[in-house]
Order: sequence, then C-alpha cells, then structure tokens
Amino acid sequence: MSSALNKMTVEDFDVKGKKVLVRCDFNVKMENGVITSDKRIVASLPTIKYLIDNGAKVILCSHLGRPKGEVNPEFSMKPVAARLSELLGQEVKMADDVVGESAQSLAADLKEGEVLLLENVRFEPGETKNDPDLSKKFASLAELYVNDAFGSAHRAHSSTTGVADYLPAACGYLIQKEIQFIGGALENPKRPLVAILGGAKVSDKIGVITNLIDKCDTLIVGGGMAYTFMKSLGHQIGNSLLEADKVDLAKEMMEKAEAKGVKFLIPVDNKVGREYDPNTEAMIVNSDEIPDGWMGLDIGPETQKIFADAVKDAGTVIWNGPMGVSEWANFASGTVAVATAIADSNAISIIGGGDSAAAIQKLGFADKMSHISTGGGASLEYLEGKELPGIAALNEKK
Ligand code: AMP
Repeated sequence: MSSALNKMTVEDFDVKGKKVLVRCDFNVKMENGVITSDKRIVASLPTIKYLIDNGAKVILCSHLGRPKGEVNPEFSMKPVAARLSELLGQEVKMADDVVGESAQSLAADLKEGEVLLLENVRFEPGETKNDPDLSKKFASLAELYVNDAFGSAHRAHSSTTGVADYLPAACGYLIQKEIQFIGGALENPKRPLVAILGGAKVSDKIGVITNLIDKCDTLIVGGGMAYTFMKSLGHQIGNSLLEADKVDLAKEMMEKAEAKGVKFLIPVDNKVGREYDPNTEAMIVNSDEIPDGWMGLDIGPETQKIFADAVKDAGTVIWNGPMGVSEWANFASGTVAVATAIADSNAISIIGGGDSAAAIQKLGFADKMSHISTGGGASLEYLEGKELPGIAALNEKK
C-alpha cells in the first residue's frame, strides 16, 4: 500500500482560470426540507474559499441522503446551495441535474471565482456503481478534481473515486487533515501511542484492534465490548453485553498483545445497573465480582484512574467509542473521565467520529483536541489499515 501522506493537495494545483470539480460532503441533517445542522457545509469552506480566492471556476458536488439512483426533490441540493451562498457571501449557482445539459452549460459559462453546485450525485444510478461512463461525464465538466469528502472516502463511487481516472486529482483541506493525523498516527506516531476503544460491539472494532495491536504501545478497551474480554478471562459478567462467538478471539487478541509487549488494559471495576434503564439502581463492583442479574454500564472509578494515567504520558492518543452508556448521565462519568484526561494531556489527540466526538463537543473540549475526524465509517476503516478508495485514487506528489 502506498503512503497516503504523499498525496497531492489542492495547493499543488495551479487553479487559476481552471474549472475544478470538488467532491464535498454536504450530506447535512435535514427535516422537512430545512437544514438542521450546517456543520458539514461550514467544514467544507476552507477548500472552497481557497479555490475562489485563487481564481478557480468552482464546481461542487455531493450526495445527500439515499435517493437510490432516482431523481427525488426531497433530496435536492437546493437548500445546500442557499446556505452555502449565505456562508460564502456570494451567489452559488444551482444546476438542475448532475451531469446533464444544465450542469454542462452552467459549468462552461463559469467565470473565475464563481461557484456552481451540481444536483445530488446519487440521483445518477451509476454513482454508487462507480460507472465509468458517469465518471467520464463528471470529468468532462472540469479540468481538475479535488476530493474533500472524507466521510465518503471509503466508498468507491464515481464522484469519489472513478472520476480521478480521468482528471488530475488532489485532496482538499479536510481530507489532507485526516491523512495528516490518522495516517500520521498509523505510519509514524509520536510514542507512546495509546489507543482507546469503546462502544457496544467487539465485532465492529475487531479490524481496528487487530491493526492497532501491531502499532500501539497501549491498547485500552472499555464500553460494552469490554465484557466479552472479561468473559474470556473467566470472569462472571452477569447480564452485561456479551458476544459469545467473539470470546475466543478476545482471548487471542490479549495473548497477541502480551506476546508483542503491548499493554492491553480492560476495566478493573465497573458501574453496574439492575436494568438497562437510565435511572436503574446502580453500584460499583470489581470486574471479577459482577453479580448475577446486574449489567456493566460504565467503567468504575479505579479504571478511570488507570485509563487516565495511561493517557497522561502518551505521545499520541487515538480514541473511538464511549466507555459506557454515555447518553445517560448516571453512566457517563467513565467517558467524561477519558475525554478530560485526553483534553488535559499534551498528546496528539485523534478522535474518531460518532459518540466520542459527540462527548468531546458536549464537554466543550473540541478545541483541545488535535483532530476530530469528520467521517465515522471512513475513520474506522482507515484505523483498520484499509486503503480508502477515495484517497488511493488521488495523485502522488511529484
Ligand atoms: P458504538 O456505536 O459501537 O461506538 O457504540 C456506542 C454505543 O455503545 C452507545 O450507544 C452506548 O450506549 C453503547 N454502550 C457503551 N457501553 C455500553 C455498555 N456497557 N452496555 C451497553 N451499551 C453500551
């Protein structure tokens, strides 16, 4: 696998006067045609502004929801064009189609610094099939291609991957930052490298654990998935989450870590509840003393200290997944403790998408983190060591 760290970026192109097709992630949350969070549009602004400021003719595209290859006004990009135009303080022209007559003629008429948004790329049935005909049509709109949609970089679609076969291709600032931090941590981390994995399922994170065992100095497992590991040590886990078919694998992973000299930490104590309920009766018990009829819903105070200690001296921390049912105040303190320890450390800190990112935002720690990934599924696949097609397709720096 070639290194993603050497991919061309938007700054490696001479964009003046050129038509540049940019794949953005404008898959915003909407309710009844109204955008309820414009975070993803805001996140795309640095690349778009760079192109405007440097005299490019900017052609943007994205998917929105799952229209499944059919034109469906419910998934039109029009509300995105309106919001983007407010944010940029200039008109954003809106094509009536993706690569049809409207897109072709508006793209051809663009002047330097102007911005055009194409319709939802998933209105085209070829998009998710990475159809070469569609990829060529995308390419025919522009002279250069920039991918800035990290959230879709794990998908080999026409607008994320195929189009790069026909145009010079570079990454935008969002993908550049993902490569710099996640790629940097995997390829050449500041040590010690500490990975903290939580969340509900071992099966979701097996690939990540397997890849990181070969790279980390310390691997920490908390959250619901930790109970499968405890079970593999012969502990009674009561009614805690268990993936019975993963117990042997959990044991193998801990043995592998030991053989490699990687510290593998799992909870030594837990906050257990009677029922899966936010207000259930709760108590703290050691990991080998979870009584029948109780379930582990958060890591305990001793574990919080051990995990925080491991983070304190880290050079790099990668965190993905909550330490307990962090949606419930009574079982959020393990996740808060880990978030606080990361915020207080001098480590390079990389937060995977989803619940851990939400916890960091809620606590107001976002600006204390080096990097919060903009793609949940994509960041997991990246951490699994997989090559992301949307990044692999980009040109290398000369
Ligand atoms: P994931 O999407 O795999 O990162 O998992 C996140 C989910 O795991 C959250 O909804 C948490 O409520 C859940 N979770 C974390 N710890 C536990 C636990 N000990 N028992 C049940 N669910 C948990």
